[in-house]
Amino acid sequence: MSARPRVVLASSLRDRIRAQLADLKMPGALEALDGILAGVDGGKLPAPAAVEALLGAQITLRNNRRLQAAMRSSRLPAVKTLADFDFTFQPSIQREQLDSLHTLGFIERRENVVFLGPPGVGKTHLAISLAIAAAEHGRRVYYGTLGDLILSLEDAQAAGRLLHRMNTLVFPSVLIVDEIGYLPISKTGAMLFFQLIAKRYERASTVLTSNKSFEEWGEIFGDEAMAAALIDRLVHHCHIVNIRGNSFRMRHHAELRSALHPREEVPEPTRQKPKRGGATH
Ligand code: ADP
Ligand code: MG
Repeated sequence: MSARPRVVLASSLRDRIRAQLADLKMPGALEALDGILAGVDGGKLPAPAAVEALLGAQITLRNNRRLQAAMRSSRLPAVKTLADFDFTFQPSIQREQLDSLHTLGFIERRENVVFLGPPGVGKTHLAISLAIAAAEHGRRVYYGTLGDLILSLEDAQAAGRLLHRMNTLVFPSVLIVDEIGYLPISKTGAMLFFQLIAKRYERASTVLTSNKSFEEWGEIFGDEAMAAALIDRLVHHCHIVNIRGNSFRMRHHAELRSALHPREEVPEPTRQKPKRGGATH
């Protein structure tokens, strides 16, 4: 006799939970509900774990949606995450430093991150994974190579829309400036980029990647004094990740690598001291 009313009660309770989740606009939790309750009924899932799983399902859905929206608006070229990064391949990177950066405190503190190292060592990968972590936490992010960002500023200036374009690049919580050092930059382009960094200084975080050491930035920007002023602002509150190792792209081509770098020694598993800066605050 007693079994029947309990089933009715249980199913109406489930319906009420469903209605509540729908009312709260929690479709991720709603979809996961039956599976989680089955786990509870089967005695596999204790109540606290069930609550955690229900909320976790909604958080996962929200983060995926944020990421999808960010992928559309941020111009990120790919999805790269810290979980996909093989630290054993790149022993010069301190895992704790990257783990700590991915907790995103640097964004709160408006600090910058600079990845330095030769081609293929994962600079872009790690810069993107920081941007993705930030986007999942609801931060606005924007990605561009230095060449593309400068071109867009020059175009905007020519069209009389510089302020608008500057604002697009000044306001995101994280701006990625990728590939500093691959292409030559015009004098006006360098000035526009300097203005951008000066505006972002102590306002929001910028994550930069370069295959050239800071000493060579004067050459890239065609102006030693301006490059020095730029670096000064960038490294004032900055985490420098100096990567020294082999290209991941060429990991299966040891012969080709030794032909390209005949005198290169096997990299030591120690971290190279940054030429300038370090984690300066
Ligand atoms: P960089 O910007 O330093 O030239 P990338 O970040 O573009 O190098 O890396 C080149 C390719 O190799 C990318 O597809 C990247 O995802 C991958 N990659 C680089 N390093 C690693 C790594 N340690 N583990 C996994 N994938 C890596
Ligand atoms: Mg790159």
